[in-house]
Amino acid sequence: MTDIAALESALPGIKIETNPQIVKQKSRDFFWYSPVLKRQLDHVTADAIVTPTTESEVAATLAACFDLDIPVTTRGSGTGNYGQAMPLSRGVVLNLAELNAVKAIRIGSVVAEAGAIMADIDVATRAHSNQELRLHPSTYRTATIGGFIAGGSGGCGSINWGGLRDPGNVIRTRVLTMEANPRVLDVTGDELARVCHAYGTNGIITEVEMPLSAAYDWIDVLVGFDDVIDAARFAQNLGLQDGLLTKEIAAIGAPVPYDYFLRHQKFLRRDMSVVVTMVAPQAMSAFEAFTRRARAEIVYRSDKASDEDLKNLPPAYELAWNHTTLRGLRVDPTVTYLQTLYPHPHSLERIEAMVKLFGDEVPVHTEVTRFDGNIVSFGLPIVRFTSEERLNEIIRLHEENGVPVFNPHRYTLEEGGMKQSNPVQLAFKREADPKGLLNPGKMIAWEDPNFDLTSDKMYLFPGLEPA
Ligand code: FAD
Repeated sequence: MTDIAALESALPGIKIETNPQIVKQKSRDFFWYSPVLKRQLDHVTADAIVTPTTESEVAATLAACFDLDIPVTTRGSGTGNYGQAMPLSRGVVLNLAELNAVKAIRIGSVVAEAGAIMADIDVATRAHSNQELRLHPSTYRTATIGGFIAGGSGGCGSINWGGLRDPGNVIRTRVLTMEANPRVLDVTGDELARVCHAYGTNGIITEVEMPLSAAYDWIDVLVGFDDVIDAARFAQNLGLQDGLLTKEIAAIGAPVPYDYFLRHQKFLRRDMSVVVTMVAPQAMSAFEAFTRRARAEIVYRSDKASDEDLKNLPPAYELAWNHTTLRGLRVDPTVTYLQTLYPHPHSLERIEAMVKLFGDEVPVHTEVTRFDGNIVSFGLPIVRFTSEERLNEIIRLHEENGVPVFNPHRYTLEEGGMKQSNPVQLAFKREADPKGLLNPGKMIAWEDPNFDLTSDKMYLFPGLEPA
């Protein structure tokens, strides 16, 4: 049981919230995207929320929790959608929302505290020198930079820069260890793999240095197609245009755009598949020519939109990535989704094969990105959920047909990722979190090294209290 009184007396002057309703609200993320995780995690809550405002307050919190054996689960904005930020063993949620200063801007890089919201970082870097972050998730306006590095993978900008995993897309993180006297480590180069996408299981990121690129007034464009494969092909070919600068390219199959993009509905038909893209202003005439050659139809462009539309319509990136699913869930709370890869050079054939296999049960949603130097389509297809058995069957059929699935219905690092343990992250956990107090239950290699990841069984963390 968490000794809140002892924690409070160890941390005078640091904000500690124990109101059960607020604690529960801040213990949740977007786990409910998955009907599987919703069933398992809906009751999960911490005992207290601690909100430090400086790095030394973070260190004091970690030292006190180490001393009192209290588990610590870090939270940025809680927009992760695999239950990554949920405290499976209760304890403390370490809320970094108020550790949010932008500390330095140079040509090519920015230094910010981990709790800074990505859109806020870009406001500062644009004002300073017309630069912006290379990559951001579609939760740009709400998610923190630390949460993106610890829990995300890529997003807008990945068409040019690849993902967070690619060397150069994170320059440095400053990390605190979970020990009696937390150490401060500056992590760079290959060592970044220790803490990037580790769900805060082996260190707390307090500060990051990220690369910047030139900022543009990106034009949001929707292109309509009668056939979903034509849309996917257009998206893939657009990604191959080396000189035509875009920041986002997604292909979304009918009837998803019309049914779920409610504020854009007047531009769409129900049988229309859509490519959602962001184009640099100087590339717009080349883009128009490219679209004409493909006999495709521009149905919306923000540079020609009315003031009323500009005020009311969400930005294009909030139609893409996991926002497509969010818009679906708002209209039909029974849908869910998958994360897939249509490997190069057979992306289009694999997408076509999935359309034949599943039709409207799994409507197409591809995100075109640069991946190991190639232009590759990832998938975030909506799934019309009927049962967990059928969901597992859909996953199996994808994999049997050469379409790997990164299962978003699992809360552990291994099952949601490459289905193997990460020795680098495990070794760093041994060093930086010897008591295993950081985000318990999320790293199988630490909790149960004998668990058979090939068994097809879902790992169930024993510390997860039953509902
Ligand atoms: P949180 O959800 O608070 O945390 C994420 C994980 O990181 C948790 O395990 C948490 O414990 C850990 N963590 C947080 N901060 C720290 C820290 N400072 N140090 C150590 N560990 C930490 N993801 C993408 O990659 N691309 C997308 O385009 C994308 N689109 C999304 C759209 C929607 C609508 C939703 C709901 C999710 C989307 N996601 C996407 C997932 C998620 O938004 C991103 O990963 C986001 O960057 C997480 O940021 P956050 O601040 O909300 O992190």
